[in-house]
Amino acid sequence: MNTQEIKDVYDRYVIPNYTRNPILLAKGSGVDVWDAEGKRYLDLFSGWAVSLLGHCHPNVVAAIQKQAALLQHAPNIYYTEPQGLLAKHISEKSFGGQSFFCNSGAEANEAAIKLARIHNSASGRFKIITFSDSFHGRTIATVTATAQPKYHKGFAPLVEGFSYVPFNDFEALKKEVDDGTCAIMLETIQGEGGINIAGKDFLKAIRKLCDEKGMLLILDEVQCGMGRTGKYFAYQHFGIEPDIMTLAKALGGGVAIGAMTAKKEIAKSLVPGSHASTFGGNPLACAAGVAVFETLEKEKLMDNVEKMGKYAQEQLKLLQKKYKIIREVRGVGLMIGIELNVSGADIIKKCIQAGLFLNCTHDTVIRFMPPLNVKKEHIDEGLSILESVISKT
Ligand SMILES: *Cc1c(COP(=O)(O)O)cnc(C)c1O
Repeated sequence: MNTQEIKDVYDRYVIPNYTRNPILLAKGSGVDVWDAEGKRYLDLFSGWAVSLLGHCHPNVVAAIQKQAALLQHAPNIYYTEPQGLLAKHISEKSFGGQSFFCNSGAEANEAAIKLARIHNSASGRFKIITFSDSFHGRTIATVTATAQPKYHKGFAPLVEGFSYVPFNDFEALKKEVDDGTCAIMLETIQGEGGINIAGKDFLKAIRKLCDEKGMLLILDEVQCGMGRTGKYFAYQHFGIEPDIMTLAKALGGGVAIGAMTAKKEIAKSLVPGSHASTFGGNPLACAAGVAVFETLEKEKLMDNVEKMGKYAQEQLKLLQKKYKIIREVRGVGLMIGIELNVSGADIIKKCIQAGLFLNCTHDTVIRFMPPLNVKKEHIDEGLSILESVISKT
């Protein structure tokens, strides 16, 4: 089918809850994606940071192919090797906890919210505080946790027990905490909110407050985790540890998977029967996740993130000097935001037409999140397309 034909099928049969570009994607390899007409695009956005190793990394493809022929689904009343191995990777690279597997970021955060509540159910504490411009998912509880009114519109009543304070404002947080608060939940680097980086002192103060009051610290690493910032997990830049962490997006290198990992003494509150997911931890997705961890290590990708992240930020700051519409360039590793003085939607549309995938969030922030194995020549190519679009704006 060509682009117009598949568009007609969508118009008739697919719910129109997305704004789609008129491009029919057919295949991908590394940073390259091709449409059905054979046009090539340079993907420096990685589909919301999902395609961590680029499209169809051979290690991920091989792991999926092997596992697909062995065993694709196994109910969670049995053991499978990929689930155990993936949990071990997450634990060893983070804070030594135990994982629960699901299929998306929202589900991982949903599990974190449920764990925080059940862990505190004896004391009756259930309130969770989140931060302005956060994003935690689209289920009814995680959209409630998401402190952005635009995502709430039309879905009232929301879930009880959530309140919001300004990001990076510790005094406001301290005032909001009371005897009913069981957890504080945040992204150390906000993704959808516009690449906003938490202050180190802010996070340290939150950690201390959680310890003093017996509250849980939940870190949502669904977007900033898995090596994107140059460390396995973004919190590792800040000298703190969470009690619960959530992962998804990049964890399967392109395959749907989510995980919640928690300190062992907290994790044990999820007793048999309290929580579950039919597809959670299925061998196919977990085999892909194991291949992702092995590849991060084997290809020393964290070093590349640091080098390429530094290079991209330097080049972007040169652009900032040249073009007044760029207000600020900020980010950590390969999670970079380019804040404009104007709405970015039109620029992104033109970049896509010119063969470059980027994205704009929070109206004015262009997001640059290439695969972690990106090379200098890809960054140069992408930024020259971006510059040619900006120079005509
Ligand atoms: C994308 C995202 C989610 C939701 O993940 P889904 O897989 O879309 O449910 C949650 N938290 C953060 C930080 C995200 O970026």
